[in-house]
Amino acid sequence: MERISHWINGDEWSGPAGRTAPVHDPATGRQTADVLLADAGVVDEAVASAVKAADGWHRASLTQRTRVLFSFRQILDARKEELAAVITAEHGKVLSDAVGEVTRGLEVVEFACGIPHLLKGGHSEGVSTGVDVHSVRQPLGVVAVISPFNFPAMVPLWFVPVAIGAGNAVVLKPSEKDPSAANLMAAWWKEAGLPDGVLTVLHGDKEAVDGLLTHPDVKAVSFVGSTPIARYVYETGTAHGKRVQALGGAKNHMLVLPDADLDLAADAAVNAGFGSAGERCMAISALVAVESVADELVAKIAERMAGLSTGDGRRGCDMGPLVTAQHRDKVRGHVDAGVTEGADLVVDGRDVVPEGDAHGYWLGPTLFDRVTPEMSIYREEIFGPVLSVVRVPGYEEGLRLINDNPYGNGTAIFTNDGGAARRFEYEVEVGMVGINVPIPVPMAYYSFGGWKSSLFGDSHAHGAEGVHFFTRGKVVTTRWLDPSHGGINLGFPTHG
Ligand code: NAD
Repeated sequence: MERISHWINGDEWSGPAGRTAPVHDPATGRQTADVLLADAGVVDEAVASAVKAADGWHRASLTQRTRVLFSFRQILDARKEELAAVITAEHGKVLSDAVGEVTRGLEVVEFACGIPHLLKGGHSEGVSTGVDVHSVRQPLGVVAVISPFNFPAMVPLWFVPVAIGAGNAVVLKPSEKDPSAANLMAAWWKEAGLPDGVLTVLHGDKEAVDGLLTHPDVKAVSFVGSTPIARYVYETGTAHGKRVQALGGAKNHMLVLPDADLDLAADAAVNAGFGSAGERCMAISALVAVESVADELVAKIAERMAGLSTGDGRRGCDMGPLVTAQHRDKVRGHVDAGVTEGADLVVDGRDVVPEGDAHGYWLGPTLFDRVTPEMSIYREEIFGPVLSVVRVPGYEEGLRLINDNPYGNGTAIFTNDGGAARRFEYEVEVGMVGINVPIPVPMAYYSFGGWKSSLFGDSHAHGAEGVHFFTRGKVVTTRWLDPSHGGINLGFPTHG
């Protein structure tokens, strides 16, 4: 069986295994590999290798750093399908969706290729007699990136290219559930010319994370995962003097007003609710329907769901399995609870007939109607293919519901009323807003991040905020005396 090892100092680490965790193919239920779980000693070794590499990398010219980014961009673009296949084999999402994930990550690499421009400082001439001021942004040194299972390529790519482009060394700690994508990308960075030690992949669980959060040589932490762990990472990391951005969980609402195009809204609800089996931090899990159109909308959604196929992501199905048996059971438990609590179960995914191995972690698309805010299926982040319809009398009640929710990652409004959409954009307390767009993931040159319990810290990922997060500012005040005041000078006068 394959053993997935750390990537330290530009190569597979070959030290003693210690603790390991099994890695499964979610579509077959079979174990395909085991992955090493770093202990404190391995964390120290990984960080020491990154520290050694960081200084040289900062001193490498911007031209050199940018060439590596361009070269990695070419490799990633040419081998998207190879990476997608690795993602599907460990995460379960369908191949086309995995290619989409890589493509969105590629966009951040392309953004980072503009790093010479992004790092430009300011300059003020003559702030006083003979005095000029300029500002520069310098790297932090060694930074850690800790990523979740649901985007094993895209989430690391939100941070790694920007951090590296800015001149830092990165220690990436991927999810232990689907660790292979990180190693493959690390090998491609090396092929692109990245010096050894600038990117480390450290596999592990809480022990590895704690090692990074408390290590004095780790200067910043970018975390993406569930809200309880994001809060813990933020509190622990900042208590140890680090800069931390910790992106947490979500409960994304889609508000449908009566004047919306209901076919467009139904398509969007199905795509955003069940794509990647609902295991997306920008998935729509609460559909807030104004009562007057709710019956029609629910019927249209149910009709579309009848045509969805669930099965092995390599067989051209619409939706794959959930990531682990444990997670599938947890999501199934949420469906059971919804029934017990009295929501209307319109489509029951528990009796799905999958196009795949009987041992896969299957759960079909599930639709609940007449869900109320007190029910656990509304309150909790399910992170599975379960869409809950909450009925409201009108816009005001819909907006209040969204703003009262503790999460604030993404939201969408469907309407043809520009005034209502504009009001929503202004009033809603959520970080990423779609208007007739169900999954409003910002382009790489904007920044990705939520509000409230969906983000701890104040920097969002990539875009200008990402560059800012991975650098620190320095302002230099310069005085050069005018040579004409320079006293005795027997040389030929040269005032330029
Ligand atoms: P998770 O919180 O379980 O794990 C995230 C990372 O933290 C992993 O690398 C994991 O190894 C580590 N970890 C887990 N338990 C830990 C502990 N007790 N102490 C220290 N580290 C620990 O999240 P997940 O299940 O991998 O991913 C799904 C979650 O991520 C969902 O809640 C989803 O909404 C969220 N997510 C958020 C965004 C966003 O942009 N806000 C994006 C993707 C995923």
